[in-house]
Parts: sequence; C-alpha cells; structure tokens
Amino acid sequence: MADKQRWANWAGTVTADAVDVYAPRDTADVAEAVALAACTGRKVKPIGSGHSFTAVGQPVDLQLQMQRVSGVVAHDVSTGRVRVRAGTPLHVLNPALERLGLAMPNLGDIDRQTISGALSTGTHGTGLRFTGLSGFVVGVEMVLADGSIVRYDDAHRPDLVPAAALGLGALGVVTEYELQCVPAFLLKAHEAPSTLDAVLGSLDETVDAADHFEFYWFPHTDRVLTKTSTRISDPGQRAPLPRWREVLDDQLLSNTLFEGINRLTTAVPQAIPRVNQVSGRALSERTYTDSSYKIFATQRTVRFRESEFAVPRAVVPELLAELKAYCDRRDELVAFPVEVRFAAADDRWLSTAFGRETGYVAIHQYHRRDHRAYFDAFWSMLRSIEGARPHWGKMHDLTAADLRPRYERYDDFVALRDELDPERVFENPYLATVLG
Ligand SMILES: Cc1cc2nc3c(=O)[nH]c(=O)nc-3n(C[C@H](O)[C@H](O)[C@H](O)COP(=O)(O)OP(=O)(O)OC[C@H]3O[C@@H](n4cnc5c(N)ncnc54)[C@H](O)[C@@H]3O)c2cc1C
Repeated sequence: MADKQRWANWAGTVTADAVDVYAPRDTADVAEAVALAACTGRKVKPIGSGHSFTAVGQPVDLQLQMQRVSGVVAHDVSTGRVRVRAGTPLHVLNPALERLGLAMPNLGDIDRQTISGALSTGTHGTGLRFTGLSGFVVGVEMVLADGSIVRYDDAHRPDLVPAAALGLGALGVVTEYELQCVPAFLLKAHEAPSTLDAVLGSLDETVDAADHFEFYWFPHTDRVLTKTSTRISDPGQRAPLPRWREVLDDQLLSNTLFEGINRLTTAVPQAIPRVNQVSGRALSERTYTDSSYKIFATQRTVRFRESEFAVPRAVVPELLAELKAYCDRRDELVAFPVEVRFAAADDRWLSTAFGRETGYVAIHQYHRRDHRAYFDAFWSMLRSIEGARPHWGKMHDLTAADLRPRYERYDDFVALRDELDPERVFENPYLATVLG
C-alpha cells in the first residue's frame, strides 16, 4: 500500500530518505495503516505541509501524507462550531469558513500549513487578547497507536482536549478537529515605519490598545516596520489595496526584491548594514481593509531558517536590547528582520503561552547563509531568561531536561503519551529529544 519517497521540509533543514509513504482517504484508512504498522513494529508519522523548521515531522518508517483527509465536515453558524478534517490547508479552510459566515479568531502570517500541522506545533499569530490557534480547539478525533479511534470533546474526556489540541504528533494521528470559530470579520491593517527606541518606549500601551500588533526590526539599524490590525464587523468598510500596489509591495518589494537583496548580501555580507538601512526606509506607510484571513497571512517566497522563542511579555524589550547589542558588534551580519508578536495566556498543556501573557521574538537567516553563529548567540541569550519556551516547529537547542521545568503540565503530557503510545509508534528523533 505504500510507496518509497525522499522527503524534505520547506526550509531544507530536515530530510528523510526512502521512507514508505501512504496517503489515507479517511479515518478508517488511517486506523488501518497505523494498526498494520504498529503490529509490524514500524513507526508512523503524519505530515502536513512540511513547514516546520525542526525535525518534529521527520518520518522514520512510514509517512502518512494527510492531503486527502481534507475539508469541512460540519458546521453550526449559531454556535460558531466547525468540524474540519486534519489535512485541510489553511488557505483552503479560511475561504471555506468565510463562505459559511465564519472565521478563525486569529491566524499566523502564512496560510500554507495544514490545520493539523499548525495546531500540533502551537502555531500562533499576534494579539494580546487572542490565543494561538490551538486555543480554538474544542474537540479532537484521533487514531491511537493500537488503531483505535477516540474523540475528546465536551461530552468525552474534555480534560484531554488541552493536551490533544497541541500534541506534537506524539499522542496519535489526528483525523478531525472541532474548532470554535467567530463570525467573519474584516481587519483594517496599518503598516508604518518607526524606530526601535520609539516602539519599545511605548510597547505596553501599544500592545494593550491594539487587537493585533507586531513589528519587524531591521538588524544593524534602529529601523522598524509596525503592523497594527483592528477588527471591524461592518462588511461595508472593505477597502483592499489596489491590485497594482499589492503586486508592487508584496510580490515585488517583499519577495522578488528581497530575494535579490539576500542573494547580493550572501555574496557581499559587508553590505548588509547599509542595505538594511535602505530596506527599513523603503517600506512605506499604508492602510488597507479586507477579510481577516487575507490580512493575517502574506506570501513568503524567500526561503529562510527560523528560530522563535516565547518569553513572558515583559521580557521582550530586554531580549531585543541584547539582540541589538549583538548585531551592533557585527559578529554576524543579518539581512532578515526580527519579528516580534504577542499572545494571550492559554491552557493548552504544551503551549508556549501556557498560563501567561506571552511575547514572541523570532530570528531568521536566509537559507543560503550559515545560520549557526547567529542562532547560537540568540539561544545563549535565552538561557538566562526564565520560562523561555521554543516554538515546537522552529529551530532550537533544548532537550527534555531543559523543557520539563518550563511547562507546568509537561509531566502530565508525558504520562498521557506513556498511556496512549507505550510502544512509541509515533516517536521520531525530535520527540525523543524534547519528550525524553
Ligand atoms: C514561511 C513560514 C511562516 C510561518 N509562519 C508562522 C507563524 O506566523 N506563526 C507560527 O506560529 N508558526 C509559523 N510557521 C511555523 C508553522 O506554522 C509550523 O511549523 C506548522 O507546523 C506548519 O504546519 P505544517 O502543515 O507544515 O506541519 P508539518 O511541518 O507538516 O507538521 C508539523 C507537525 O504536525 C504533525 N502532524 C501533522 N499532521 C498531523 C496529524 N494529522 N495528526 C497528528 N500530528 C500531525 C507532524 O507529524 C509534525 O510533528 C511558519 C513556517 C514557515 C515555513
């Protein structure tokens, strides 16, 4: 039933040679594949769009490609509850929800991920009044290691929803989620240039006041681009960017020109500080209003590597000051902006925002440049920050021993995994490292 294929993730940081792949059609197919693999001692790993930078999705024996397990199964507009199959990509889910008059309350900055990949790794957007995506999960249907099918929801083991909603693929193969959506809404986005000092000087007030606030800081400079999005329920206020401006700003400046800049600065890294000054100035102020999912997500065609850590919200300025001091020393030259976002506290056991308002600081390096010195420096800054938690889908250097004290429910999660997958059918080297 399975073909052999080579697999690589989006960033090219993880590969697997000649693993068996199988694309199940439905829950019954998944259950059969898992039961068969388990009884022959083989490990099973479902995969979404392969957009995780870590080896969280690396297959060992059998890879389940979930693209056929896709689509909205049922919805109730009066409650906002939607049942969706696990392999549904966000760029398919979002317009489907809009046609039903519904929307995801918050989203990250691209829409290429599957709902299961995004949820399993704790994908988040920005906005201090909103949780990451797994916070919207109210039900999970999952195939366990013995091939049995379980459903956790309001009526069956609701206490396990916060574990299974962000499960790292360690508990089972999710086949369906029930999501708590909201009525469809518009977002009015305002992007504006600023300086790091100005943004950090009023960070608390800005983040508290905005529905969704994030900023990008250009290393080796004081230049910043802010994006503030405001939720609007009146559909009459739609005012998208003219198509020419969208093509010019997002495709030409943000992607094509940015790719060119990265190729140039890979060849001539000494040019980076000056190029960042120019890039930081080139992005001009703009305001536009459109369906929420079109504002949350943008296109990212330039390939990069990324590490992102969640820290207590109040620690963000201190971490950025350290990063700035490092970049000012020019030990490493970095052309990619640093991205800063925020999220509400939530109750998902392995969420990077569990139990606290959270700030996220993400660093990137162009895929053709060596990221190691920069990432190592970032990770060493984080060692002294209590409660710093790495995004499960983005590069980090932490192991189970480092992670256990950072999550109140870590031991509960590990115990649940022991109960549901005692033979480690769903294990791979990444899970062995972060869960022990
Ligand atoms: C360009 C880019 C932009 C990004 N932007 C953001 C952002 O704004 N915010 C953010 O938080 N993250 C962001 N990410 C990270 C990304 O959201 C996560 O890595 C996410 O996991 C990717 O989804 P995927 O479908 O590609 O999952 P994959 O990488 O394919 O899989 C991730 C994990 O989910 C597991 N999984 C997949 N399907 C199932 C299933 N059915 N049952 C159980 N486990 C399953 C896999 O086994 C694996 O462990 C970005 C990544 C890239 C490359």
